Amino acid sequence: MKKIVILIGAPGSGKGTQAKKIAEEYHYGHISTGDLLRALDKDPNGNLEDKKMLADMKAGKLVADVLIYKLAFHEMDKYFNAGQGVVLDGAIRNVEQAEEYQKYFVNKKMENEVTAIEIALTDEESFNRLTKRRVCKKCGEIIPWLAATKDLTVCPKCGGELEVRKDDNEEIIRKRIVEQGNLALKPIVEYYKKPGVLQVIDGMKDIEGVWQEIKNIMD
Ligand code: AMP
Repeated sequence: MKKIVILIGAPGSGKGTQAKKIAEEYHYGHISTGDLLRALDKDPNGNLEDKKMLADMKAGKLVADVLIYKLAFHEMDKYFNAGQGVVLDGAIRNVEQAEEYQKYFVNKKMENEVTAIEIALTDEESFNRLTKRRVCKKCGEIIPWLAATKDLTVCPKCGGELEVRKDDNEEIIRKRIVEQGNLALKPIVEYYKKPGVLQVIDGMKDIEGVWQEIKNIMD
C-alpha cells in the first residue's frame, strides 16, 4: 500500500468524503488544503500576510502556491515523522504544484510511494452537486449533495445548524469550475500519467461505489 494518496477531481467529486474514509480506514493523515485555509481564516492568531492571500479563495480563485506549500508540507511532515501515510485532498491544483510536491517527496525519499487517483466527474455534474451541498456551521462537516437533498435540517454528526458554504453560490461555483474543473485538471492528470501511478475511478457512482474502487486500489 502506497503511503501517499493524491486525490484529483473536480469540485464536488467527493474527494473530501473519500479522503476522510481513507484516513479512517488506513490511519492516514487527511491533508485538505481547503480545510487548512479555512482554519487559517478563522484563526485570530494567524499570520497576517498569509491571511491576506485568502481573498482569492473567497473570490473562487486559487490561492498563491507559496501558501499551499507552507501549510501542506508542514502538515505532511507531522504525519511522516509519526510513520503515517497521507491522503491529499485537493492539495494539488496545477502542474507547478504537482512539481513542487514531487520535489518534496524526493527530498523525503518517498517518490515511489505515490498513488494518484482521479475521481472523474463531468463539469455539469460538478455544478449540480455544489449547488445542493451544505456544510455544518459548528463542526465543518460537509453534507454531500445527495444527503443534503433528503430533508436534513441539522448536522447528522453534531446536530449543528447547516448552511451553504460561502464559496458555494452559483456565480462563484461557475468560477471554480472554470479554474478547478476538468480543463484545469487535465494537465495534472497528464503529469501523473507519466510515472504510471495514475488510477481513474468513475465519480458518477455513489459514495459506496467509489469507496469500493478506492479500496481495491489501496488493498
Ligand atoms: P476546497 O475546500 O478543496 O474546495 O477548497 C476551497 C478553496 O481553497 C478553493 O476554491 C481554492 O480557493 C483554495 N484552495 C484549496 N486548495 C488549493 C490549492 N492546492 N491551491 C490553490 N488554492 C487552493
